[in-house]
Amino acid sequence: MMIADNADLIQPAGPEETQTFAGGHLIEGQIVSAISGRTFAVINPATGVEVGSAALGDVHDVERAVAAAAKARQAWAAVPARERGAKLARGASRMIEKVEVIARLLALETGKAIRTECRPEVMTAADIGSFYGGLGSELKGETLPFRPDLLSITVREPLGVVAAILPWNVPLVLMMLKIAPALVAGNTVVVKTAEEAPLATLMAARVLAEELPAGVLNVVHGFGPDCGQPLVEHPLVAKVTFTGSQPVGETIYASAAQKLIPVSLELGGKSPMIVMSDADLAKAVAGAIAGMRFTRQGQSCTAASRIYVHETIYEAFLESLAAAVRKLKIGNPLDEATDIGTIISRDQMDRIEHFVRLGQETPNVRMIVCGTVPDDKNLDPALFALPMLVADVPEDSPLMREEIFGPIACVVPWNDYEDVLKAANDSEFGLAASVWTNDLTKALDATRRLNAGYVQVNQNLTIQPNLSYGGFGKSGLGKEASLEAMLEHFSRKKTIVFAG
Ligand code: ADP
Repeated sequence: MMIADNADLIQPAGPEETQTFAGGHLIEGQIVSAISGRTFAVINPATGVEVGSAALGDVHDVERAVAAAAKARQAWAAVPARERGAKLARGASRMIEKVEVIARLLALETGKAIRTECRPEVMTAADIGSFYGGLGSELKGETLPFRPDLLSITVREPLGVVAAILPWNVPLVLMMLKIAPALVAGNTVVVKTAEEAPLATLMAARVLAEELPAGVLNVVHGFGPDCGQPLVEHPLVAKVTFTGSQPVGETIYASAAQKLIPVSLELGGKSPMIVMSDADLAKAVAGAIAGMRFTRQGQSCTAASRIYVHETIYEAFLESLAAAVRKLKIGNPLDEATDIGTIISRDQMDRIEHFVRLGQETPNVRMIVCGTVPDDKNLDPALFALPMLVADVPEDSPLMREEIFGPIACVVPWNDYEDVLKAANDSEFGLAASVWTNDLTKALDATRRLNAGYVQVNQNLTIQPNLSYGGFGKSGLGKEASLEAMLEHFSRKKTIVFAG
């Protein structure tokens, strides 16, 4: 059955298999249709069948959402910071209660496997909400030793209305990284969902919004130029926080410059992983699988997609990695046994296929395919990209330089430490890097010299609450996930001087 615009999205009626979802905008606590009445289809990439539709937002819907956020601003800023945090934390625990329904919808619209990706994503998003929920009392100022006859202090104030623009790859986590610090700091928010995956984001936002005053958290759906751009340009939007592609990030930065408002940008990556000769091979192989985000089909900004392995263990590493990746089950995202689902869209698949062809055409490059397309008549095989190790890739190949955003890991041998560090740093990006060794001196040296915002030794963790996350160079501007992110990027400091 079709769910009407104002019906409860969280527990849609009817048998699960026959449900489709109609996602309106969330404005001032209500689910509403686009003013134009138009919608766009949301497709399940694993079957090609419509999951449902979302309101097609344009400048008029943006106007309405920003007006709602602007109206709610003063009252929300006047709520004590700890109470704002407590409300967010309550919303986050309600997300956990709704994990199954949100994760299922996320799997349907993204093609990501429910067990390995979607359920953990809901839990991580909730964890980030609960982390920031406890940080309200950290919005502190300072006393300044200026003159003894004057009391000089600083206080932190909210910025106003924050625009949060999301991509499709981990939409719930990325939404929470943006809205949680923004809300606790006393801002109101308009989220622009990703056009490929708007529905689970809406569902999660709705759960959170039920704990918040109307208008504090609003959500609009639509396409970049028609909905995202007017949001960035809106005169009442005081801050933009964005995760997505580098070209769009640059466009947003340029628009924000016209208004002289701050931006946080989390853009691409081409993260190196350096495996030294003494590394624990089994750990490094497991780390490569985790780092490459193979269970997310490699659709990650931090994907460890350039793996440099010391020549003495290179062949053994390749063999073990291929064997381990082959053990991952590619299949129906809703199946609990599935490790790897599908790519998000035809466009993204075309991009991946372009890089696969490039690898096939490059002399002396070995393409090691690690899996088969699932043989299931209920699935459309079109968007199942097979995990691939591309071995012996030349350093100047686009495979080594450009972000693929697919399950393709480049693996290359090295023999000189200085050379491999140079190669690892020879990238316009600087998001993440890892080093694999038991040699403490080398590990310390490499962590100091690697040009990346998130450097790990003997592990490849994803984003974690409390660990400052953000790239160097063309990977972006600003930090997320930490206290610093809330203080530096979602509040402004005012200096006040009292005379007696
Ligand atoms: P991806 O390739 O990961 O989809 P994009 O950078 O294309 O990344 O999109 C990320 C988000 O940015 C999406 O929500 C998209 O609609 C939005 N977007 C795209 N173009 C613009 C724009 N010009 N202004 C604001 N938002 C945009």
